[in-house]
Amino acid sequence: MSNCVIVGINWGDEGKGRMVDLLTERFDVVVRYQGGGNAGHTVVNEKGKFALHLLPSGIFRDGVVNILGNGVALDPENLWKEIQDLRAKGVEVSPSNLKISDRASLLLPWHRDLDELEEKRLADKRYGSTKQGIAPFYSDKYQKKSVLAGELHFPEKLKAHLLDLLDWKNLTLTRVYGSEPYTMDMLEKWFMDYCRPVLPYVCDTGTYLKNAQKEHKRILFEAQLGALRDLDFGIYPYTTSSNTLAAYAPVGSGLPSARIDEVIGVVKAYSTCVGEGPFVCEMKGDEAEKLREAGFEYGAKTGRPRRVGPLDLVATRYGVEVQGATKIALTKLDVLSYMERIPVCTRYRLNGQETDRFPFPAELDAAEPVIRYLDGWQCDISGARKWEDLPEAARRYVTYLEESIACPVPYVSVGPERDSIILR
Ligand code: GDP
Repeated sequence: MSNCVIVGINWGDEGKGRMVDLLTERFDVVVRYQGGGNAGHTVVNEKGKFALHLLPSGIFRDGVVNILGNGVALDPENLWKEIQDLRAKGVEVSPSNLKISDRASLLLPWHRDLDELEEKRLADKRYGSTKQGIAPFYSDKYQKKSVLAGELHFPEKLKAHLLDLLDWKNLTLTRVYGSEPYTMDMLEKWFMDYCRPVLPYVCDTGTYLKNAQKEHKRILFEAQLGALRDLDFGIYPYTTSSNTLAAYAPVGSGLPSARIDEVIGVVKAYSTCVGEGPFVCEMKGDEAEKLREAGFEYGAKTGRPRRVGPLDLVATRYGVEVQGATKIALTKLDVLSYMERIPVCTRYRLNGQETDRFPFPAELDAAEPVIRYLDGWQCDISGARKWEDLPEAARRYVTYLEESIACPVPYVSVGPERDSIILR
């Protein structure tokens, strides 16, 4: 397992952080390669319970070097707060265990404003953004109207660059949205408050990773969100604005020549989806409320209740395919323990016919789930540590998933703690 990517197979919140925290034991370097601080990884370990937003989940392991790659939306304001928060809880974060790519683009304060302004303009057609500025950030990055973290090392050039960007961005803020303009003083204060503190972490991580590769160090690439939120292959436009796929890991991490040996896809034992957009197998009413409470399905960043549903085999098979997953980690199996019989969405019904195909985004609204019920086990499985400890019905649930998606499930998680895991 020298180069491994950990990705979400579904809509995100599958428990990737928990799996990265567990598996970092076997790695030297952990790299976040896309996305920003708009979602949260919850990690529970011997140091406490933490909600990570931008920092890689390897940050708790001594000796592991954590990297924020060029593909991330580097939000210095949230990052600096996150670093301080972890330090206050006794976790070491220093330039020796955290490195920021000099080629990562900065998420600037107006990106958050624009996210909010655009969601307000869209009103009931809003995307359900977390309003962390991610979509405006990536738009600007691809328009080449952003600042690279490495520019912080060149203050004079940076100032001239910012003046140009300020002129340009104020046009959109004031003339499109009727909002207040930014001034250079406001920007300079923001740079002093949030960019100066993270400057010691900014370096040429590409060279660091190339050397790590030469020295046969083991590298773990950590994704945010899931396959169905991928900008190109997800449920567009209800996707995120970056590529959540394993295939993007080499580029977004800063090691474009990396060969990926293993892709571990994380699947939750049931479905959750936060925000707007089509969610074919969505449960409603009491049934949904019970599952949401059992799994404590509220967003780590926003506290928003997540939409819930049964395991969706159509979406999961598609996620496995586009991620190129070689193995699956199944999480939160313990949450289903209260169910007498467990619903699973096996196929979709579309235009009067049943199908295994994950539909084109514009067709998703018309798709309906075909539900089959499996036997529940109705006992507490959170103490299970071996495959044989699981009741037969729980094992059948896992093997049914495995056969349905044609991908092995060597990890079964039965609780949020690091050791609440069954290795098969
Ligand atoms: P991520 O963004 O994919 O890392 O997922 P989140 O952290 O947003 O959501 C996963 C949530 O489930 C977190 O609160 C975890 O602590 C929790 N969790 C992870 N695995 C398990 C599990 O096997 N059982 C239970 N009960 N909770 C889990």
